[in-house]
Amino acid sequence: VLVGVDGLEWDVLLPLLRQERLPALAGMMEQGRFGRLESFVPTESPAIWTSVATGKMPEDHGILAFTYEDSRGRPHLYTSEDRTTKALWSIATDYGKRVCVVGWWMTYPVEPVNGVMVAQTNTDAQLRGATLKGGFEAGMPGQVHPVDRQDEVARVFAEVEKGLDERVSRLFGNPDLESSTVLERNLLEQSMWAFRADAAYDELVRRLSREAGPFDLTLVYFGGPDVVGHRFWRYREPRLYDHPPTAQRVEDFGSIIDDYYVWVDEALGRMRAAFGKDTTFLLVSDHGMKAANFDGSFGPSAPPMSSNSALHEDAPPGVIVATGPLVRPGPGAPDPGSLEPADLPVLGSVLDIAPSVLFQLDLPVGSDMVGDVLRDVFLNPAGADAPTVVPSHDPAAADSIAASWERERLDQLRGLGYID
Ligand SMILES: [Zn+2]
Repeated sequence: VLVGVDGLEWDVLLPLLRQERLPALAGMMEQGRFGRLESFVPTESPAIWTSVATGKMPEDHGILAFTYEDSRGRPHLYTSEDRTTKALWSIATDYGKRVCVVGWWMTYPVEPVNGVMVAQTNTDAQLRGATLKGGFEAGMPGQVHPVDRQDEVARVFAEVEKGLDERVSRLFGNPDLESSTVLERNLLEQSMWAFRADAAYDELVRRLSREAGPFDLTLVYFGGPDVVGHRFWRYREPRLYDHPPTAQRVEDFGSIIDDYYVWVDEALGRMRAAFGKDTTFLLVSDHGMKAANFDGSFGPSAPPMSSNSALHEDAPPGVIVATGPLVRPGPGAPDPGSLEPADLPVLGSVLDIAPSVLFQLDLPVGSDMVGDVLRDVFLNPAGADAPTVVPSHDPAAADSIAASWERERLDQLRGLGYID
């Protein structure tokens, strides 16, 4: 199970681990491996998460950012149709593996995988809003594969919507929004899509495993930590900013980021309980985050980007935590009380995840992937030390693949003495 969490940051995780507020993550660290995961710039979610799923840089997978302009200069959101190379779910499908993909970036419209795919739906309508990130649009085709699961998925989103107020007040408390500024109401409003989507993905990934599984590979994405991180950092660390929020606002909003991380940990715990100890879990973030915009005035009418008080422009390393039968035993978790993010080892980069997952599925790695299998961290179920390699998993390169297979086969026959 590959769990993608946007913008997850060790600087927030470590204090929460010290407070023993992240038991699921602590359990994974105890039994597994963990460290920092390097990323690249620009740190645009659609591009990086597609790199995680393909092992390729944006110029080689085709998803460069959130949007592109057409010949008349009009902006459009990228979709899965703009991706020019196969992602993990298609490669696994080609080899007869069963996959479940829930909420991953750039999966709309869905592809005909061997298994189930629920897209994170991004529509051009969002170009008018303050956020470009997606969710689920009731009644719109192309969001669920196979299509006969669409109603079930829509029902889960509707259930989540019904319980949303309660979930939100648990997470955000009950701040006095009447007296809050327009800015703060906007910040909360802009975070809602993420909580709505994350709560639905949390429910869906376990339900689909139960009802349509088992799957050889599951990918699920949670976007909330990035969304609340950008918006609420100055309430968490007000002393860093020239124009800090009032004490009342710090009290109202200061714990949102930490509480969201705790929610993600609970979701992780639910997943680990549902999938069982025989399942290997790999948690990654696309980049870390840090406080920024220190001299910002954060006026009530500030446009969304300048009301962000944390950023990740220079690609601070993200998080990688792995545990389960396909993870090499590590030294055990050191006491988080003595750890700083900089003490954590760099285990690899976002580009190494796709090849590493293929290695764990005992599938060949494409030599056109720029990432490497993290052989110090992951094991192959057949006991191989190194991955098998094909030139590419893409049909455009099919001729050269056939040629290389033929070469390999001829070498084999030669080795066996059948031909000279
Ligand atoms: Zn971000």
